[in-house]
Amino acid sequence: MAKDYDVIIIGGGHNGLTCAAYLARAGLGVMVLERREIVGGACTTEELIPGYKFPACAYHCHMLQDKVIEDLELRKHGFDVYPLDPVRFLPFPDGSYINLWRDTDRLIEDIARISTRDAEAFPRWDRFWERAAGLIQAYVLSPPPRLGQLFEKARGTPDEEVLETMLTRTMKDLVQDHFESEQVQGAFIGATEAGDPSVPGSILARAYFHIDRFSNPVNMGLVKGSMGVITQAMARSAQSQGATIRTDAQVDKVMVERGKAIGVVLVDGEEVRSSIVVSNADPKRTFLDLVDPQHLDDHFLGRVKRLKTEFSSLKLHCALSGLPDFSRYLGEGFDPKMLAMVKICPSVEYFERNVADARNGRFTHSPQMYIQIPTVYDDTLAPPGHHVMSAWMQIQPVKLAEGSWDDVHQEVFDILMDTLSIYAPGVRDLVEKWELMTPLDIERRVGLTDGNIRQLDTIPQQFFDQRPLAGWANYQTPIHGLYLCGGGTHPGGEVTGAPGHNAAHAILRSLKLEEAYPAD
Ligand SMILES: Cc1cc2nc3c(=O)[nH]c(=O)nc-3n(C[C@H](O)[C@H](O)[C@H](O)COP(=O)(O)OP(=O)(O)OC[C@H]3O[C@@H](n4cnc5c(N)ncnc54)[C@H](O)[C@@H]3O)c2cc1C
Repeated sequence: MAKDYDVIIIGGGHNGLTCAAYLARAGLGVMVLERREIVGGACTTEELIPGYKFPACAYHCHMLQDKVIEDLELRKHGFDVYPLDPVRFLPFPDGSYINLWRDTDRLIEDIARISTRDAEAFPRWDRFWERAAGLIQAYVLSPPPRLGQLFEKARGTPDEEVLETMLTRTMKDLVQDHFESEQVQGAFIGATEAGDPSVPGSILARAYFHIDRFSNPVNMGLVKGSMGVITQAMARSAQSQGATIRTDAQVDKVMVERGKAIGVVLVDGEEVRSSIVVSNADPKRTFLDLVDPQHLDDHFLGRVKRLKTEFSSLKLHCALSGLPDFSRYLGEGFDPKMLAMVKICPSVEYFERNVADARNGRFTHSPQMYIQIPTVYDDTLAPPGHHVMSAWMQIQPVKLAEGSWDDVHQEVFDILMDTLSIYAPGVRDLVEKWELMTPLDIERRVGLTDGNIRQLDTIPQQFFDQRPLAGWANYQTPIHGLYLCGGGTHPGGEVTGAPGHNAAHAILRSLKLEEAYPAD
C-alpha cells in the first residue's frame, strides 16, 4: 500500500522534534504525531494556574547541545535564555549558605566562609568532574562507546583513574574524601536515579549531568518564556523544513508486516503509513504498549520489562503573592535574582534519609528540594508583583507502600511548606494556589513510564552502549524500520537534543543519505 510519509515520529517531545527537524532538513517527508494537545513532552510551558505560567516538568536549560541550537536555528525560532549567576543559592538551617557562582574563585570564597579546608579541596573536586564529564561529552553526539573502548583510550592517562573511580567508588566516598563540613558535603552530594549515593556507579550517574560545563554559557540558564519556548522553537524549525506536526494524535500501535514497521494506527483507528517509524516514547512504552508482543521475542521482551525505572520525581507548582523571604541569609533588600534557583539539602545524612524513605515507599520528611522562581528574571510568567515558584524533588518511590499518590497531595504539600519555612519563614502565607505533580501525575501527563523523568534510570547498566539495552544502543530495534529517539537512548535524558540528533544520524546512515545531511 502507498506510504503517506517517509518517516512517522511517535511523540513530539524535544527529541522527537529534534529528530524530525534533522530528517526534514535532509529532504525526508516527516510526520510527528503527538498524543497531547501541545508538543514538548517533559519540556513545556503551561498555565497550570490561571494567570501563571510554569515549566511543568523540566525547568533548567543546561545541557541543550550547542550544535543542536545552531543546526536547528533555535534562536531564530524564538529560543533565548537569561544566563544565571549564581547558578544556585544553597541555604543551610544554621544560617550559613553557599552561592554556586560561575567564577570559581568567588565560589571558593563562599565555601571558605564555612570551611577553609573545603575551600582548598574544591579545585581538586572540580578537576575530577572536568575529566569525568569530559569522558562522557566526547560521545554525546556520536554513537555510544563500549566501556572497554573507554578504558583503552584512557590507559596511561589521568583519565584512567577517573574512569575507575566513576565505576567502582560511590558519591558518598567522593564527597567525604574531598569535604569535611556537613554543609559543603550536602551541597555536592547527589546520585540522580542511581538513587543511593552509597552505591558504586553513583558517580557515573552524576558525571552525565556535569557535561553542562561544556555548554556555551549563553545557552544555559532560565529560558525566556520558560522551557516550552525550546520545544516551540524546535517545532517551528522542523516545520520550516517541511515536517508536519499533529497534536491530539495518540498512536495506539505500530503496524508491522513481515518483521518491518510500515506505519502506525491511531487510537481512533486511523492508519498512517511510512517507510520508517521512530518512537520518542520511552523504551518500555514503545515495546510493551505500542508494539504487539507477537512481533518481539520473549527474551527481548523480558529484558525490556527488567529495564530499571525505579526512582521518580515529584514537582510542586505555586502561584505566589510575593517573594519568599531569605533575608536571614542575604540581608534586607537582597537582589531577588539570587533566588532564581535554590537548593535545599543540608547534609549527606539528610540526603540518605530521603533515599531510605523512597526505598521504603514513603514520601520523605527530608526532601531535597530544587526550587526555581523564574519570575525574578522573567516577569511575563505571572501578574505584576506576583511570582511562580516550582520545586522539584528527586528520588521518590514510583509507588507508595501504602495508599496511592493521589491520596497524599495535601500531606506532601504540608511537608514541603514546613521544610521550606525553615529557610524562608512565612512562605506558606504567600501561596495563593498550588498544584502537585506526583510520579503518577507525571506518568499520566507526559506518558513517561513510572514517571521516570529520563525515560530510564541513569545507571551504569543503562548507559553508553547499554542504553536502552546492550546490542540495541544504535537507535534501531528488532523490528526493521522501527527506531527509538528519546531520552531512553544514548546519551540519556535531560533536555539535550542529543538522542534526537543521533537517531536522525543513524536513520540517514541506514538510508545512505549522510551526504544529504547538511550539518556534517
Ligand atoms: C519533573 C521533571 C523535571 C525535569 N527537570 C529537568 C531540568 O530541569 N532540565 C532538564 O534538562 N531536564 C529535566 N527533566 C528531564 C527532561 O525533561 C526529559 O529527560 C526530556 O524532556 C525527555 O525528552 P524526550 O523528548 O526524550 O521525551 P519526552 O519528553 O518524554 O517526550 C515523549 C513524547 O512522546 C509522546 N508520546 C508518548 N506516547 C505517545 C503515543 N502513543 N502517541 C503519540 N505521542 C506519544 C508524549 O506525550 C511526549 O510528548 C525533567 C523531567 C521531569 C519530568
